[in-house]
Amino acid sequence: MTLRLVALVIACAAAVLDAQRPPAPVLLGFSAGASDAERTAESTFMSAVSADAISDMHRRVTRRPHVAGTAASMEVAEEVRRALATAGLDTEVHEYHVLLSTPTSISVVMTAPDRQVLPVTEPAMRNDPDSAHPELGPGHVAYSASGNVDAPVVYVNYGLPPDYARVKAAGIDVTGKIVIVRYARSHRAVKVHTAQEAGAAGIIIYSDPADDGFARGLTWPDGPWRAEWQLQRGNGKYSWFWHGDPLSPGVAATRDARVLDPSTAPTLPRIPAVVLAAKPAREILSRLEGPPVPAGFQGGLPFTYRLGGAAVKVSLDVQMDTSRRPIRNVLGRLRGRDPDRWVVLGTHHDAWTFGGMDPGGGLSSVFEVARALSTLKKTGWTPERTIVFAFWDAEEFGLIGSTEYAEAFAKELREKAVVYINTDLYMRGRFDGGGTPSLRDFLVQVAKDVPAPTGKGSVYDGWRADEWRRLAPERKRTGDAAFEVELAALGSGADFVAFQDHLGLPTLQMEFDFDGSYGTYHSNYDTRWYVEQFSDPGFVFGRTLAQVLGVSVMRLASAPALPFRYSHYGRKIGQFLDTASTWTYDEDGKALVKLNLLSARRLAAIFTDRAHGLERRIDAALTSGTLSPAAAKALNDQLVRLEQALLDESEPASERWYRHVIYGWNIYSLYEGQPLPGLAEAIRLRDQSKVDREVARIEAALTRLVDALEGITLQ
Ligand SMILES: [Zn+2]
Repeated sequence: MTLRLVALVIACAAAVLDAQRPPAPVLLGFSAGASDAERTAESTFMSAVSADAISDMHRRVTRRPHVAGTAASMEVAEEVRRALATAGLDTEVHEYHVLLSTPTSISVVMTAPDRQVLPVTEPAMRNDPDSAHPELGPGHVAYSASGNVDAPVVYVNYGLPPDYARVKAAGIDVTGKIVIVRYARSHRAVKVHTAQEAGAAGIIIYSDPADDGFARGLTWPDGPWRAEWQLQRGNGKYSWFWHGDPLSPGVAATRDARVLDPSTAPTLPRIPAVVLAAKPAREILSRLEGPPVPAGFQGGLPFTYRLGGAAVKVSLDVQMDTSRRPIRNVLGRLRGRDPDRWVVLGTHHDAWTFGGMDPGGGLSSVFEVARALSTLKKTGWTPERTIVFAFWDAEEFGLIGSTEYAEAFAKELREKAVVYINTDLYMRGRFDGGGTPSLRDFLVQVAKDVPAPTGKGSVYDGWRADEWRRLAPERKRTGDAAFEVELAALGSGADFVAFQDHLGLPTLQMEFDFDGSYGTYHSNYDTRWYVEQFSDPGFVFGRTLAQVLGVSVMRLASAPALPFRYSHYGRKIGQFLDTASTWTYDEDGKALVKLNLLSARRLAAIFTDRAHGLERRIDAALTSGTLSPAAAKALNDQLVRLEQALLDESEPASERWYRHVIYGWNIYSLYEGQPLPGLAEAIRLRDQSKVDREVARIEAALTRLVDALEGITLQ
């Protein structure tokens, strides 16, 4: 065969193969032609994403500890800004003056039955030279009250309200005592607040091996789980009042902003709180006296846990420097044809220590999206909408940088932002997508087009298989074929909160996840070494994360019609309402409150039905090419702002900062989203008038939603 003939045969074989492969479905929000062009640009982008480049950036931002408010943190912010500028983006720095809290001195001394000074620092370890860095400080709870407490110790399990009820039932009073509770099951702030409400004088939070230590698997340096001398620091701010700066609800904490008096702000703990690693905690726990603990209280240390309350005494001395300090958000803008419509992709840049995983992984992946898209732009690709890359400061102190920005630019964001996408730490593991249901079908389509990090199949294949595996047996009855993934309801764990719950922007959060926890979380050992050894050797998952984020951003920035599927949102709301009806009964089937959701359910059904009709009309207009650019622009603005109909703005932000009626946060779960948060809380409190008020709020929001949808016309 001649060479030309060989080429011809190969070309024919390729054509036959192409003909056998089903054509990729037309992208949501695109015409068939525009869809092909979009996919071509996306594949150029995906091949430009480089694990080496992610690794380089990671190295630059994990050199030294960089807690928000410090010079080191400002250096990282400048490093990110410079890198964005070098990559060709327009950069902005936004500074706010917020209340931060850092330890001046922390001491935990057991004074009875024997005296022992318990370590609140973490040792330097040979495997990882970073752990000897001179700028590393003691474990602490940011925003802990300063003070000195000397009192007997009581063990209260996870420190949640039912745990206190069990301790009380066992005849032990925690008033004036120091409680020792373990991490997990709730944010640490909830543990501090619950202890304060129960009358405890101080609280010790420790990492039990049962929850993220040796009982889970091999510990550092042999495996990813927490070693017994590794502790978890973090903030104890009562963020369920509002997120962000603890003193300036609803307004940006500029230098001259009027702020609350810290002595009366509801967001700040009133008792001293400290953290301990398992090893020093063991010294206390193993000496506690009294009967064995109730079921569910036993942790992973090798002795029978007891509640204590008399024999063991501890002296806590906590001195915190709690003062207003500057923080800096860094933004990079990639201008689209329309400078006034934004796709925002965010992560944070501050860290408790080195930020190897938290946030080094997410930060470097987001930066890689910016770098690769900027390169693509230089070759002629221009998105329709502008892409904004955001690197927030002081996330670790309770989502402060992102929240202050959201409050400062509330009006502009509600007018111009079409979506907020967030990522943070990730670990090699399963793909996890969360967010508003209007974007479920969109994210499914994106995940199908991005190869899995393993090289086998797509990100979607792994995501779907994993969601199916985790599904409750009764929900598996419909069969695998009819199953589709759902976006997890977003709770409180990361910088999306202000955008979803306060501003009502369509929101997505993406990450790779490993069992929901990892051993070095918020410890001195969250370093580059840990990432190279355990969380993402070779930055393979970082590369895939950047590809999923980047393709999402590209599609949302270029879709002629924004790819929202509100019919699915309507269905989800219907499901949430159905589930809520079951919340009103106690274990014995007795009704706790009266709940009538008939009208809300009817509204959700009407909304779903009309959204279907609208989607059919949009798809038809895209297919026939009859959607004019002007009509598309008007349509897109109306589609985006449907989400804002779900905000209840009847009260000032200082009174009611969490304004989203459908989505919010269940503070007694760990970071999980809580559908219908106001109603759930009213039922939990068994407060009938509150329940009625929440039902009215839901009906009003759904009425606004239906009205807004009916106002959408397609010219
Ligand atoms: Zn983080």
